[in-house]
Amino acid sequence: MNHPAPEQPAATVARLRKTFRTGRTKPVEWRTAQLRRLRDLLTENGPELAAALHADLGKSSTEAHRTEIDFTVREIDHTLAHLDDWLRPEPAPVPAHLGADADAWTQYDPLGVVLVIAPWNYPAQLLLTPMIGALAAGNAVVAKPSELAPATSAVLARLLTAYLDTEAVAVVEGGVPETTALLAERFDHIFYTGNGTVGRIVMRAAAEHLTPVTLELGGKSPAFVDRGTDLDVVADRLVRGKFLNAGQTCVAPDYVLTDPATAAALEPALSRAVEALFGTDPAASPEYGRIVNERHFDRLAGLLGSGRVVVGGASDRTAKYIAPTVLADVVPEAPVMREEIFGPILPIVTVPGLDEAIDFVNDRDKPLALYVFAESDVTRSRFAAETSSGALGHGLPLAHLTVSDLPFGGVGESGTGSYHGRYSIDTFSHRKAVLEKPLS
Ligand code: NAD
Repeated sequence: MNHPAPEQPAATVARLRKTFRTGRTKPVEWRTAQLRRLRDLLTENGPELAAALHADLGKSSTEAHRTEIDFTVREIDHTLAHLDDWLRPEPAPVPAHLGADADAWTQYDPLGVVLVIAPWNYPAQLLLTPMIGALAAGNAVVAKPSELAPATSAVLARLLTAYLDTEAVAVVEGGVPETTALLAERFDHIFYTGNGTVGRIVMRAAAEHLTPVTLELGGKSPAFVDRGTDLDVVADRLVRGKFLNAGQTCVAPDYVLTDPATAAALEPALSRAVEALFGTDPAASPEYGRIVNERHFDRLAGLLGSGRVVVGGASDRTAKYIAPTVLADVVPEAPVMREEIFGPILPIVTVPGLDEAIDFVNDRDKPLALYVFAESDVTRSRFAAETSSGALGHGLPLAHLTVSDLPFGGVGESGTGSYHGRYSIDTFSHRKAVLEKPLS
C-alpha cells in the first residue's frame, strides 16, 4: 500500500498560518473546545498513554497518571475555570493631559503559529502543558514530541491528530533533522524544553526571524539542609523528589549541600528512606523507573564512582536500571558535580556553614530550583534574599510546579520565560496596548 508522503515542515507551517489568518483559532469558544477535546484525549486514553510511558521510561501507571496524565488534566481544568478572567482586557489609568474621555487598556492577542518542542523525561506533560497555554491563548500549534520517548511520541501524534482541530494543530515527529527543518521556518513563538546546548541552537534559529522564545532548561538544583532539622522528614522528602522518574526530572534535587555533622546524620536517614520507598531491592519495585536509553545509562554509570556509596550503587545495563544511589564525601570537583546529573544519584557535598553554602550556590549557574530545609527564618530568608533561582522551595522539592498560579521557569542558564496557568497566557499572547479617544 502506498502511503502519502508526509507534509514538509514548510507546508505545515504555511497551512497553519493560513488557518490562523482566517481567525478560526481566535474565538474563546474554539479555544475552550480544543481544551475540552484535549481533556477527553487524556481521560479516554489513560491506559494507552500509561503503557507508552511505561515502554519509554518504565513509569508505573500510578506515576504516569500522577505526573503526566492527571497533572495535565488539572492544568486544563484550571485554565477552563479562569480563561475568561485571564483574557479580560485590563484597563490602564489615563494621564490627565489626554482628557477625561480617553480610555486605555491592554488586550491579549494570540501570537499566530507557535512551535512547542518537548523532551523525553515527561514526554506527555511537557508537550501538552505548553500546548494548553498556546491553544487557550488562541494560537495555531506545531507540536514536536521527543524522539527519545518513541512510544509516547507515536501515541500522542495519533491521538492529537484524532482529537484536535487539524486545521490549526499539527504534530511533527522526528529527531534532529526534522527539528532543524522546523526551526528554519518562521514561527511567532518557540517554546522549547530540554537542555541548554539545544536551547542555544533554538535561540540562534529564532533570532533569524526575531521570534521570541521560551527556554525551559535544567541544571543542578541544590538542596540545602540546615543544622537542627528533622532529618527523617528531610530524607523522606528528598528521596521522593530525587528518585521520582529515576531522577530524570528537571527540578529534582541534584545534590545535597550541608555541614559535615548534619551530613553524617543524614546518611542513615537517606538509606532508611530509600528502603521505605522502594524496598531492599528497588529493581523489583514496580514504582521505580528506568533510564531512558543506553547513552544516558552509560553516562550515569560513569558517575557512580564519584563518592562513597551510602545506599544503592548497583546497575544493570540490559535493564537500563540504576539503583537509587546516595554518594557521600563528594568533592565539588568530582565528575558527578560537573553537570546536571539527571538520574538517580544523589551526592552529598559538605560546606562549613550557611555563608559557604550560599557562596557555593552563587558561584555556580543559577539553578532551576533551589530547595532549603531549615527551621530558622533567618536561614530561609537569607537564601530568598541572597540567591537567584527559577524557584525556591522551602521544605518540599518539586511541589511548586503543581501550583498552577505560580510561574514555572528558569533564570539564566536554567532558562528564560515561564508558563503554567495565567503565565502561559502571558507567554503565548501579545499584550497589545490600546488607546481610544473619541473623535467628537
Ligand atoms: P531531548 O533530547 O528529548 O531534547 C529535547 C528536544 O530537542 C527534542 O524534541 C529533540 O528532538 C530536540 N533536539 C535535540 N537535538 C536537537 C538539535 N540538535 N537541534 C534541534 N532540536 C534538537 O531532551 P533533553 O534535552 O535530553 O532533556 C533533558 C534536559 O531538559 C535536562 O537538562 C532537563 O533539566 C531539561 N528539562 C527541563 C525542563 C523544564 O521544564 N525546565 C523539563 C524537563 C527537562
